Amino acid sequence: MDRKCLRCDGTDYTCVGDSPVKGKWQLFRCNTCSFVWRSTEESYLEPYVTKLSQERIRSITWSYDPTLK
Ligand SMILES: [Zn+2]
Repeated sequence: MDRKCLRCDGTDYTCVGDSPVKGKWQLFRCNTCSFVWRSTEESYLEPYVTKLSQERIRSITWSYDPTLK
C-alpha cells in the first residue's frame, strides 16, 4: 500500500506495533516528524492533523543524544 505520514507527507516510517488480534491493524511512526498513527486511521484522520513543512519540523525538533547530560 502507498503509505505516507499524515503530518509531513514523509514516506520514511517504521512499523512499531501490531494489534493484539493479529492482522487487524498496525502502528506506524514517521521517522521524520515522529507522528504515530494506526493503519485503520488513515481513511479519516487526515483532516484532523495539522500539516508541517520540513522547515517547521526542523525548527521544533532537535536530535537527542543520551550520552550528553
Ligand atoms: Zn511525518
